[in-house]
Parts: sequence; structure tokens; C-alpha cells
Amino acid sequence: MFSGLSFLGSRRAAPGGQVFHAQQPATGTAFEEPFHSASAEDVDTAAELAHGAFGPFSRLPGKIRAGFLTAIAEEIEALGQILITRASGETALPEARIKGETARTCGQLRLFAGMLTDGSWVDARIDHADPARQPLAKPDTRSMLRPIGPVVVFGASNFPMAYSTAGGDTASALAAGCPVIVKAHPAHPGTAEMVAGAVLAAAARTGMPDGVFSMLYDAGHEVGQALVIHPRVKAVGFTGSRSGGRALMDLAAARPEPIPVFAEMSSVNPVFLLPGALAERGEKIAAGLAASVTMGVGQFCTNPGLVIVDRASDTAAFREELTKFISAAAPGVMLTAGICRNYALGRGRLGALPGVTKLGAAPEAGGGNHGSPAVYAVDAARVLASDAYTEEIFGPSTLLITADGPAEMLALAESLEGQLTATVHGTAADLAGAAELLTMLEQRAGRLVCNGFPTGVEVNHSIVHGGPYPATSDGRSTSVGAGAILRFVRPVCWQDFPEEALPAELQEGNPLGIPRTVNGRRGGEGSAG
Ligand code: NAP
Repeated sequence: MFSGLSFLGSRRAAPGGQVFHAQQPATGTAFEEPFHSASAEDVDTAAELAHGAFGPFSRLPGKIRAGFLTAIAEEIEALGQILITRASGETALPEARIKGETARTCGQLRLFAGMLTDGSWVDARIDHADPARQPLAKPDTRSMLRPIGPVVVFGASNFPMAYSTAGGDTASALAAGCPVIVKAHPAHPGTAEMVAGAVLAAAARTGMPDGVFSMLYDAGHEVGQALVIHPRVKAVGFTGSRSGGRALMDLAAARPEPIPVFAEMSSVNPVFLLPGALAERGEKIAAGLAASVTMGVGQFCTNPGLVIVDRASDTAAFREELTKFISAAAPGVMLTAGICRNYALGRGRLGALPGVTKLGAAPEAGGGNHGSPAVYAVDAARVLASDAYTEEIFGPSTLLITADGPAEMLALAESLEGQLTATVHGTAADLAGAAELLTMLEQRAGRLVCNGFPTGVEVNHSIVHGGPYPATSDGRSTSVGAGAILRFVRPVCWQDFPEEALPAELQEGNPLGIPRTVNGRRGGEGSAG
């Protein structure tokens, strides 16, 4: 049922490039279907098609693009169990998880469809002319957000649905009016082919211009890099390693015309446990934390990799419980042999650092690309002296750091790199005394969590899944939720245009009935002058 060929708009590429196979993560056994890497010509064709589609696609009314996004969700849902089975087979993620992720993916598409139907996301602003203004007449200026052009999306290994072919980057770029070229992740090419087929069926069903979506395979890095430097490409979305994201950022910045790369890379998601909370419910926190660390074999970008406690707190029961829960957790098959190898290397590196002790670990499963949960401990003074302790270890391990009082906790927070999340557990009294820590965490992370755990990201209008470098390449953005659309647009102003030549969103009569900012007043329709 798989052709193994890249999608160049509505056509399929010819075979001929380097052939690769998906592998069953536990055994390394290859699935039988071959997948063919795209050629340099395929990259060019996809980019030119996307460029050609950009004008007509960007001019479509939001409601028509909404119909396309809704149709993608329907086509994905229509794939049913066959998609779930394949995605689970290629990733070792349980079917229940893939079902949930598929529902999330379709929910994301419908969230953006709803925004397009509503129309107000374009942030329309109007300043009326005043020809009588002295000393100079005031022009009529009107602005709104417009799409930036073709976007390249790199599928992520750890979310075969929600951050891959029709995931958040693709949904938000299409919603903005940008054609998308996906570089499929080689760990789940069959899943990618099914979802790409669904996107293109939806495009045909809703009359989208050819080239609005393409997907290319690659066994190595050539295709991805060629896409990033292609002059027709105007932005990039990426989720993966820091080295991969950084390489793409550097390539994009070195282009004759630099373009933005929205890369989500590494984050260790610190969890600060304040004394009152620890005394009140240390054992409960330990259970929740262990579940968060080990969920999905720790393969979440929001996995809590650092836990910080104050030496003055009574931490004994908490340590004991955390160690017990982590040691009792089952090892799990990781997404790929490479990720499993990196996890083992990361654990080995951390365990060998001065001052680190292993508090406990689940028994090794012995092969099969299993990752075993583990918890380590170290004093904050060591961490403050070297960045090596806070490097991301992608997998189910965490490091318990003991600080000497609030000042050292604060210093630790200040020493951290940018994070997707920072979590605080505290009573009302703890939080009242932690203003400086909370302000510092606000400077370090995109999402602050109180008395909860960072894994599990809501997809809604207010969520921020972003953070300062290296959590992402641009901390002013989010890759999840409604705000993700803002990465792929830019403001454009029309000065002194006649009514009939303006986009509908900016016409004086407001035919779409959207809220606008008129002469500086939000919702100030009709207020002239
Ligand atoms: P990855 O190695 O960064 O790969 C992601 C995608 O980018 C793949 O399609 C990959 O192609 C491509 N790529 C990587 N480096 C590139 C480069 N220099 N030039 C062009 N393309 C490049 O991530 P991964 O395969 O998902 O996992 C590897 C490691 O990434 C993990 O062990 C983990 O440490 C980290 N990771 C982190 C997160 C997170 O959310 N924080 C998520 C996933 C992975 P190829 O596959 O062909 O190399």
C-alpha cells in the first residue's frame, strides 16, 4: 500500500534516490516497503510548486482555507485503525497514545479552522486620513497580518502525528496562508505517507492550488538542507535535537536572504519544590513527578529533567518515594535505536560527573532499544560550576539538585538556559516568599506551571510552547496553540488604497464583521478622526 515516493504537489516523484526502510524500534527489523530519498530536482520542483501556489492560496478567503483544514482532519480520521497500527509499529508508541495524538492533531487543525472562520486573528488596524491636518495631511493607513510564503516543516520523531506531517507547524502555516513542504522524519515514513495522502485528498476535495502541500523523503540531511537554502522557501519549522536545529538556523541565517527558523530543541524543564509544599505533600509530589519523568519513556520535550529542593526542607521522604517510584517503573522501547543510544550515553555522562550519585534506576531490560528510568542526585554548587549537569538527556531520567537555601535556588534558576517550562510546587506562603524566583523563571521559560507537572501541553488559545534559546530558536513564539500562526505572518500596511482594492478585512464597510482597531480604539468601528 506504500509507494515510498515523495509527493510533489499532486504528483509523485520518480524512484531513484537512496532507498531506506522504516524499522521496528524494538528489534531493528526493517519494514519491507522501500522509501526513496528525494532528488535535488524534486526539492526544486516542490519549492517552485509551493511558490506558484502561494499567491492563489494566500488570497483565498479564510473560510475557504478553514474548509481545507477541516477536510484534512476528516481525511486523517477516515484512515482509522490502519494509520494507528502503522504509526504504533514505526514508533513503538502504544496505540492508545497514537489515538490520542491523532485526536490532538485533528483538534489542532479544527482550532485553526475556527480561527480562520472567525477572522479576527489578522489583527486589522485602520487609521483614517485627515487631509486637513497641519502641517502635513494625514494619509489613510490600514494594516493586517499576511502570510510570509512557503514554509518547510521537519517532522519530529517523538510525535509522529501532532508535530509531523499534518502537525502543529503544518496546520499553523497552512492556516496563515503559506504552502507547506514537509521533510518526513525517516523513522516513520509510512505514517508520513498516509498522512500526506490525507492532506492531498483534502486539497483536491476543497479545490486548493497544486503545490499547496508537498512532502519529501530523505535518508540523510541533503534534502532538508537543500530545502532550507532554497530561495523560494521563506520560513522553517523544526522539532528535534539542538544540533539539528542549530545547523538549520545557521544555514538559514547564512542565506543571501536570511529566513526565520522556528526550531524547538532542547529543554530540561526544571521543577522547583519549595519547603512548605514538600512538607505538606512530598510523597504525592514524588509520585506525580515519577509519572511525568517516565511517561512515554521520557520522550517529551517537556520532560522534567531537573528537580530542585532546598537542603533546609525535610527531603528524606520525598527522595525515598521518588527513588522507589522511578526504580519500580518499567523500561520502555524508545523511538529509535539512535535515541536509545543517546539516552544511554547521556546517562553515562551524567553518572560520571563529579558529585553525582545514582539514587535508583529501573532494571535494564537488556537490549531491544529499551530505556530504563533513573534518578540521580547532586549538590547545586556543582551545577553552578558547570553546564554539563544541565544538558538535556532525552529519555526517562531526572536529576535531583539540593540547594543551600533560597539564594542558591535563585542562583540556579538564573544559571539555567532557556526552557520550554519551569514548574514550582509551593503553598500560598511559599509562593508569597518566592517573588524573585518566579520573576527569574519567567525570564527563563515559556510556560510556568504551579503545583503540577510540565508534561501534557494543552492546545488552545493561550498556551505557549516556546521559550528562550535553546528551548527554541525564537522565544517570542509558540509552536503549539492558536498563537503558532503568528510565526508565519508579517504585518503589511496599505496606504491610501481605494476601498475596492483593499483586502476584505480592511474595507471600510467591514464586510467580514471582524473586530478591528480603528483610530487606536479596539472595536472602534465607525469612529472617524
Ligand atoms: P534530529 O536528529 O534533530 O532530527 C530531526 C530531523 O532533522 C530529522 O529529519 C533529521 O534528519 C533532520 N536533521 C537533523 N540534523 C540535521 C542537519 N544537520 N541538517 C539537516 N537535517 C537535519 O532529532 P531526532 O531524530 O528526533 O532525535 C535525535 C535526538 O534529538 C534525540 O536523541 C534527542 O536528544 C533530540 N530530540 C529532542 C526533542 C525535543 O523535543 N527536545 C525531540 C526529538 C528529539 P535525519 O533523521 O535524516 O538525521
